[in-house]
Parts: sequence; structure tokens; C-alpha cells
Amino acid sequence: MSTRRHHVSDPARPPSAKQSPAGPTVSLPVLGGGRPTEPTRRVRRSKMGPRRATVFITLHLLFIAHFVQWRLTGRTLSPIEPSETMYTLEQGAINAGAIFFAVALLATLIFGRFMCGWTCHLAALQDLCGWIMKKMGVRPKPFRSRLLGWAPLLLGLYMFVWPTAKRLVIAPALKAGGFDGALRLIGAPPAFPGFSNHIVTEGFWDTFAAWPIAIPFLLICGFATVYFLGAKGFCTYGCPYGGFFAPLEQLAPGRILVDPDKCKQCGHCTAVCTSNVRVHEQVREYGMVTDPGCMKCMDCVSVCPNGALSFGFATPAIFKGAPKRAPIKRNYDLTRREEFALAGVFLVSFFAWRGLYGLVPMLMAVGIAGCTTFIIWKARRAIRDQNVRIIGAQLTRRGRLRPAGVAFLAGAGLLVAATAQGLTLRVERLRGDLLDARVTVSKIDAFTQTPGVISDTQRALARRALAHYRRALAFDAGGWGFTDHPDAATRAAWLHAVLGERDAAIALLRRLNDRLGVADAREVDLAQLLAFAGREDEAIASLRSALDADPTLAGVRDTLASALTLRGDLAGALEVRRGAVRRHDPDPRREARARAALAATLMQMGRHADAAEELAIAARLDPADPSILNDLAVALYLSGQV
Ligand code: SF4
Ligand code: SF4
Ligand code: SF4
Repeated sequence: MSTRRHHVSDPARPPSAKQSPAGPTVSLPVLGGGRPTEPTRRVRRSKMGPRRATVFITLHLLFIAHFVQWRLTGRTLSPIEPSETMYTLEQGAINAGAIFFAVALLATLIFGRFMCGWTCHLAALQDLCGWIMKKMGVRPKPFRSRLLGWAPLLLGLYMFVWPTAKRLVIAPALKAGGFDGALRLIGAPPAFPGFSNHIVTEGFWDTFAAWPIAIPFLLICGFATVYFLGAKGFCTYGCPYGGFFAPLEQLAPGRILVDPDKCKQCGHCTAVCTSNVRVHEQVREYGMVTDPGCMKCMDCVSVCPNGALSFGFATPAIFKGAPKRAPIKRNYDLTRREEFALAGVFLVSFFAWRGLYGLVPMLMAVGIAGCTTFIIWKARRAIRDQNVRIIGAQLTRRGRLRPAGVAFLAGAGLLVAATAQGLTLRVERLRGDLLDARVTVSKIDAFTQTPGVISDTQRALARRALAHYRRALAFDAGGWGFTDHPDAATRAAWLHAVLGERDAAIALLRRLNDRLGVADAREVDLAQLLAFAGREDEAIASLRSALDADPTLAGVRDTLASALTLRGDLAGALEVRRGAVRRHDPDPRREARARAALAATLMQMGRHADAAEELAIAARLDPADPSILNDLAVALYLSGQV
């Protein structure tokens, strides 16, 4: 990743762009030792801005149309989001997002980062935030760190390479070497189920964050990262896709090229670049833009007063060779010690925030970690140094804290406290996970609690793991958090069940249902626990109310139908099964299964002809299912039709 180099104290800095009603102007002369520069003149407006805005608006309208079509029909193309590739790599689910990401990578390898500059909503958001801040007189300065620039690539590897490497290489090696502790730490990967087609989906929104998270996400990854880390701050320090796009950009023959005879080194190109590329220097040294941060937005091409820049094909940047003259020394914000210390802060902060309360998604955690790192660095400087400024505010002057400095330090203190709390909860969950992974009690043993079956060692492990998980719950549940972490609460409920504490397990599962809404597997576990506790009526009532709230809960429907059948209430079970058929599931295979289940109840009632009728429809819907054909043959035989 590129590091960003604009700085007021840099002797070879790019021209400082000043706002005027007609657009920014640049101060000249810009460069020492270069060719003569032309007189100062106003930087003209880029014609590319409105074009990019049109592209982004069109893309967002298409997204809205996609969403509306899904809401109306219940099925649609899976999200065209690169993050969906994770499901392809982990579960073999080939989806539209994975195909899009593959095409984007290939296109970047040939043309450079056009996809970033012209299609990414986060790039548009960051540019919009930068533009709004500029209108408000706030000019964020790029935060320049060498080490943190590796974060996107490492995140990209973690997201897209680690799952496969873990499954194919690391887990088998740890298993073969007997490193069970390390294996527990990374989590044993499930077997790869093979590739399957998920290009069309019904769960279009399943992998998107809920609105209450989406809004802070956009504020953090847009405004906060741009304010603290500079224009395209999220791209520079947080985006895992950028971690792949940046190296591919270096290999791409598609480049911004200069006609050296036309370039007068006026610096207008650098002044408009929202990716912090020092365009005028790069074209002078290499005859082209070589910075991997270039997103081919084409603003520099548009504003060049001499028409010196153009897009074309040339030798990839990685083979650019030595610069034509001694490269200008780059300045960085951090000393080497600070680099390492702040890399540690970034990692700890990311670890603390990621998945906090089951709410903070990975990309948001990266954005928070980047901003936290900057704020801690600046707070330390404010405490230590004589004169410290942050964008638009003086924190200290001649060693004395200014009101803005006091407010900034108070905010930094709160952030550190929140991060420390998140870290504590995360560590408790991790310690719980490590112990929990050693609890090998089966579900039936936990639920039946047959004396002597669960060993004392297993009970001791379960109790220790439970203590850690309970600390990761909310204050009102005896924990240390503001709300429960769903995974910790689920595992705590399970461990209560292992220890025979059914009421505590039931209370935790109900608490989760109240907070998060009913989930299929959780509701089934709850009903089973209630049934084993002798509270069958409550179990059936709970299953019924869950199914009323969400008729798509297949596990709940099966469990309810089985519970009613066990009670001898076949009519009730039949009604539950009919409910699934009446839904007219858009997936023919699921509808076939629903009809087969209905037929099974009809068979139990002795209504063989009706069962055969349902199974005949099921066989037409899913002719490849041999069990349906088998049941159909039996039903036809018993009903005397063959
Ligand atoms: S680096 Fe990431 S966030 Fe930035 S433009 Fe590219 S894909 Fe979007
Ligand atoms: S490429 Fe154009 S805008 Fe950039 S320094 Fe040269 S003449 Fe100026
Ligand atoms: S170098 Fe030019 S094309 Fe690349 S991001 Fe900057 S302004 Fe856009």
C-alpha cells in the first residue's frame, strides 16, 4: 500500500490547494530542482466528478431496484458484494459477489483500480465526506504510517486466504503434530462441502448489517476515517479488498501517463487527487503514476491545464525501474518506535472491537481501530509536546492544554475505556471458547442428565468455561457488558444444560429470543429443554408462538409436529405440516420436502391415498430425491393403487 506524503513541513510538498469560489488554486513554485513552472493559476474543476457522481447514483438506483425486486418476489440475484466471496471459500457457495470480485481483480490486473474509483460506494462515501468537510473549511491531512499501510493486505489474506489455508494446511498439520491447544484456538474448520450454486438467493439481506449498525458503520468508515486518517483513509488503512487491488495495480499495464514535453510541473494534478498521490512528482520521476493508491478517477487527467496526462498502456509500475532523478525524501508522521507501538494499538483495538456484542462487523472494527490508533497517538503528543494541532483545532500551545485539547483528551480517555472494556469481554469469550472446546458432552446426555454419564472432569471444565462466558454477558445478567454477546449467551446456556441447570439455560435462551428475535436452532433447543424439564405444554406453546412469528422456521415446524405426534395429536401435527405447504415455498425442493413431511403424517393417520397424492406432487417438484419416490411407491401400494 502506498503511504501518503503531503505535509506542510515537507520541502517538496505538493502545491497547497486553496479554496476559492471557482475551485482550488495552487501556490507556485512547487518543486526545487525541476523544470521551470508556469505561473500560479486556478485549478480548474474536474469534469470527471459529475461523471463519477452519475455512475454512483446509477449504481445506487440499481441497488434499490435489486432490493425492491427481492422484496416483491422473494428471490433475487445474490448480493454483488466482494465480501460474499468468503461464503464461496468457506462453504463452496458460488454467488454473484464472488464472481464480481473475481472480475474486479482481473480488471484491476489489466486496467488498474478503475473499479475502486468508479464503482465502490465506500470510495464515493469518503469522497463525499471529504467534499463536505472541505465546504466546512476542514481539510483533513493524510496520516502517514509505514506499518499500518500493510493492514489492508493482512486483512485481505485473513478474509480470503486464511479459511482455505486453515482447512487445507494448518489444521491438518496441527492435528498431525498433536497441537490440540493451537487447534482449539484457531477452531477446527468444517469439511469443505463442495461447490454449490447460490447465484440466486432468498436471503438477500442475510449478510448485510442491520440499519442500527449500518449507520454508525457509514459514519465511522466515511467521516471518522477521512477526518482522522485523511482522504481515502479507510482505503489506505482498512479495506481488505484494497489490500488485493493495490498490488494488482502495480502489475497492471493500464496507467496514467504523461507527455513530458507538455508537463510544466504546475502541480494541479496533485492538488485534485483525492487518493493523496503526488502525481506531479511521479510523472516527473517515472513518466507515469506508479502509486498503488491511484484509483483511476481521472481527475488529474481532466484538470491538467496542458493536456499532459492521459490513460494508456505501458510497462507495469512494478517494473518502472529507477527514477529519473534522486527521489524526494519522504516524510512520515511516526518514528520507528511509534510505528511498532501503534501497530500494536491497532491490533489490540481491532481485536477488542471486532464482533463486540455480536454487533460490530469486521470492516467497522478496522475503521474504529484506525481512528483509535490515530487518536491515541495524537493524545500522547498532546500530553508530551509543546504545540500540537489536530485538523482545525489547537490542542496545546507552548506546552499548555487548550480547551480543545482538554475535550480531545477526555474523548480519547473515553475511547480507551471503551476499548479496554471490549478487550476484557473479548478475552473472557476467548478463554471460555478454549475451555468449552474441551467439553465433549453429547446433547442427549446433557438434556437427560442420566446419573454417572457426564464425568466430573467434564463438569469442572464446563463450570470454568461458563464462568468466563457469563462475564461476557450484560451487567444485569451478572456480566461485564452493556448487553449480552449472543455467542457467549448461547454457549453459556448450553453449559448450564451440561451442568443440569435447565432453568438457567432456559432463562438465557429466552433472554436471547427477546433481544434478537427467534432463531430456529435456539428455539428448538429451548423447546427440548422445556420438554426434558417436564414442561411440555410450555414447549409446545413456545414453538407455536415462534412459528406464528416466523413461518419459515423449518426446525421449529418439525419439532412442533413431532411433539404433537408424540402426544397423539395427529390432527394438530397435520395442521402444522399443512401450514408449510400453504406457504408455497419458492424453492421447489423445499416445497417437495414440506409435502413429503405432510404425507408422512397422513400415512400415520392411515390416509394412504391422500399421502400418495402429496408425494406425487413432491416427486414432480424434486424428481431427484429417491426418498420421495420410495415413499410414493409405499403410499401407492398401501392405498391399493398399484
Ligand atoms: S480500497 Fe476498498 S473501500 Fe477503497 S475504493 Fe477500493 S474497494 Fe472501495
Ligand atoms: S501533469 Fe499537468 S497538471 Fe500535472 S504537473 Fe504536469 S502540467 Fe501540471
Ligand atoms: S493519480 Fe489521478 S487518476 Fe489516480 S487517483 Fe489521483 S487524480 Fe485520480
